[in-house]
Formats: sequence, C-alpha cells, structure tokens
Amino acid sequence: MPIEKSLELYKVCEVIDLENDLIFDWFKLKGFIPNSKQCLECLKTMKLVERKDSIDSWTCRCSTDRKRCSLRDNTFLESFYCELKAFLKKVHYWSIQTRQIDPIPIL
Ligand SMILES: [Zn+2]
Repeated sequence: MPIEKSLELYKVCEVIDLENDLIFDWFKLKGFIPNSKQCLECLKTMKLVERKDSIDSWTCRCSTDRKRCSLRDNTFLESFYCELKAFLKKVHYWSIQTRQIDPIPIL
C-alpha cells in the first residue's frame, strides 16, 4: 500500500496503521533507532540485511567478521521484545487513556 505523504510527516496515530517495514523506517527517521551500526570488533559500518526470524525482519551484519546485532541495541527499544507496530499501539492507546475494556481493537 503506497503512503499518502512523506513518511516523516506521519504522526504516531497514523503510523500505527502502516506496514511493519514503513514503521521501522519511521522509527529511524525520528531517531529512535539508528540508520546503521558500527561493528564493535573491527569498527566498520555494518550492513543492514533482511532476516525474517528477527523481530524487525532486519539485522545488522559485519561483512568482515560476520558479527550480528539489532538496530535496537543500545536504544530504549532494546528491552521491548515485540513488533514496533504493537509497541506503538500500546504507547499510543496508553497515552490517550484508552482502557483495556474499551471496544477498540488495540492489537
Ligand atoms: Zn566487524
């Protein structure tokens, strides 16, 4: 599904309805997760590679020594092991004080 405007113009309440890859890009645009990582072993910039068994479907990999890490490492998102869409929905509905018994499908 194509987006209607530049991704950086999306508000949280709009982003939660986008596809996971776009939400992942939005988190990077907003600076919540970095665009790239530096390998702790050789200090080279790691490549972002698709990996379907990763929570975000992407992982950073060093082409020199094959080290891997998540873009979430060393961010506040590191300790949240859920999809970014689910994380955003929980934070958004919490912020607008939606109760769990309200008839709004949150997840
Ligand atoms: Zn390396």
